[in-house]
Amino acid sequence: MIIVMQPGASQQEIDNVIQLVHDMELKEHIIHGTELTVVAVIGEDRKKDPQVFETLPGVQKAMKVLAPYKMASKEISAERSTVTLGEHCVIGGKQLQVIAGPCSVESEEQIIDTAKLIKQSGATALRGGAFKPRTNPYSFQGHGKTGLEMLAAARQATGLPIVTEVITPGDVELVSRYADCLQIGTRNAQNYKLLEACGDQPKPVLYKRGMSMTIDEYLQAADYILAAGNPNVILCERGIRTFEKFSRNTYSLAAITELQYRSHLPVIGDPSHGTGHVHLVPAMSKATVAAGADGLALEVHLDPQHAWSDGAQTLNPQQFSELMPQLVRIAEAVDRELAVGEMAQV
Ligand code: PEP
Ligand code: MN
Repeated sequence: MIIVMQPGASQQEIDNVIQLVHDMELKEHIIHGTELTVVAVIGEDRKKDPQVFETLPGVQKAMKVLAPYKMASKEISAERSTVTLGEHCVIGGKQLQVIAGPCSVESEEQIIDTAKLIKQSGATALRGGAFKPRTNPYSFQGHGKTGLEMLAAARQATGLPIVTEVITPGDVELVSRYADCLQIGTRNAQNYKLLEACGDQPKPVLYKRGMSMTIDEYLQAADYILAAGNPNVILCERGIRTFEKFSRNTYSLAAITELQYRSHLPVIGDPSHGTGHVHLVPAMSKATVAAGADGLALEVHLDPQHAWSDGAQTLNPQQFSELMPQLVRIAEAVDRELAVGEMAQV
């Protein structure tokens, strides 16, 4: 259920609504829009009657949210949400952001050098895994806390906000201390305890679609993060498992458009994991921008042939620098613009 307050409703009137929500043994989540304040009711409210709220002063209307994903749904917010990484990287506004970097943080020198190069090409956030969820238990599992320190050094050297994955609820506090944005990966997309733990910490969350999740399941699961108190969730299409083998995953451009149609949350695409092959990444990056995404996550490595993970889908700095000006032009064609950081004029 959502309760839409009248324009200019007083804090006392909002507090009265919250009190009634508590009397029903439900919780509230307040959304302050540019014009209206909305009180979203969290919990099992199917048997509650919205009309009782309409008797309270300051209430414009109260209604049921029909979608099973209450907080991710567009029904509770007509405006698109934005999520800010660090101080300046706003995802979901007119400008598109490109988050780039290696799959794994390998060394301090590697991550700093990569950060400098991607920044020169126009990336506005740095990605890199310190905790790696690997299919094979004998593969490199990431440098852990040391990797987070390396990322922090790269942020220090470049000013780029850092995005890095967390794979267990027990590590959330540690990763949250270092990262500007916590990534929840595809393998953990239905680890509800991890989603809740990421909902209960202050940093934004880049929440990737599970490789076997429907859009409906994905948005319901996003509510675990939102309902735990964190409104700063970015959705990310990174491909799903299908019978098709030519690409590592089947990258769904329509999913990006559909997520934006159903949800107010920002949506980005990850064609690196989505395709698994570097020859597909530039075209699918351009298609992601054309499809209306709010940004991209791209794997970039100084020497992909020797990357410790995911080399086959990883752009080298030269390929990345050639792609970025093309993305600028595609963005313009769909009435958006690329936030280009320090990129040389194109
Ligand atoms: C990653 O971003 O390196 C990663 C492991 O992504 P995904 O969870 O989408 O496979
Ligand atoms: Mn990867």
